[in-house]
Amino acid sequence: MGEWLDEIRHDWTRAELGALYDLAFSELVFRAQAVHRRHFDPARVQLATLLSIKTGGCPEDCAYCPQSAQYETGVDAAKLMDVAAVVSEARRAREAGSTRFCMGAAWREPKDRDLGSVCAMVEGVKRLGLETCVTLGMLTHAQALRLKSAGLDFYNHNLDTSPEFYGSIITTRVYRDRLETLANVRAAGISLCCGGIVGMGESRADRIGLIHALATLPEHPESVPINLLVRVKGTPLAEAEPLDALEFVRTIAVARIAMPRSVVRLSAGREAMSDETQALCFLAGANSIFCGPRLLTTPNPARDRDGALLARLGLAPLE
Ligand code: SF4
Repeated sequence: MGEWLDEIRHDWTRAELGALYDLAFSELVFRAQAVHRRHFDPARVQLATLLSIKTGGCPEDCAYCPQSAQYETGVDAAKLMDVAAVVSEARRAREAGSTRFCMGAAWREPKDRDLGSVCAMVEGVKRLGLETCVTLGMLTHAQALRLKSAGLDFYNHNLDTSPEFYGSIITTRVYRDRLETLANVRAAGISLCCGGIVGMGESRADRIGLIHALATLPEHPESVPINLLVRVKGTPLAEAEPLDALEFVRTIAVARIAMPRSVVRLSAGREAMSDETQALCFLAGANSIFCGPRLLTTPNPARDRDGALLARLGLAPLE
């Protein structure tokens, strides 16, 4: 049994990933947990904080996103935050136990002028001893190098869904653009945070296609956020059919098995999830969460609810 637990593969086929999805639930979760404890301490969960440093007014049309200027969602566009204000939010996150601080800006791509401010934020957050991550949209290789020299550890850029379903969710860019940014970030020596969103009306074949796209990248992303759609009024996906919770857990488990050394983050959608579903996700190999009451513009569980859940499950923060 030992060998398959250690193997890091980049040649997964969709049929193999589909066969994992089709396993009996207990068998799938058992295999995912076996892979998980081979590579990670199963009693530890990474705590990350995500701050919106520039909110709303985005020209892109991602159907799930309340920050797109194309939808009436009640999110007001705001300017890029001050560097000092961002650093003081990061200090608060550190005091609350986070080890990674992620900064998100609602841009199609950053302007070089704005990138200077973001680099100053990265430097300030890094000085606090936190891991740094930013998500700024599409990035050129030169921009990635600037962020790297400011000390950036991670860049978040999600593939969102399968290549086939992508055009139903976003029309203002194509899958190839995403892959290009991922390559630019890698070439600059920055680690990748890259995952997707489920519950957008996609089929299981699309969920398989997403995990396949991630697990066949030349290197697996170090962090893989799996988001459950938060249905926001005013967005085209406001009335999307909710995804079965056990199908969500299966998605976490398949991602864990396909990318054994990646930190799998249980990301958006936790607010509406029961404690029991979250516990199953941890059992299936999720080992990171975002904490704090907001995730960019959508609600997230309060820190005390998360603290109580982790205590009930006997999970401790990853150092
Ligand atoms: S997900 Fe990002 S790129 Fe898409 S509309 Fe929202 S802020 Fe813009």
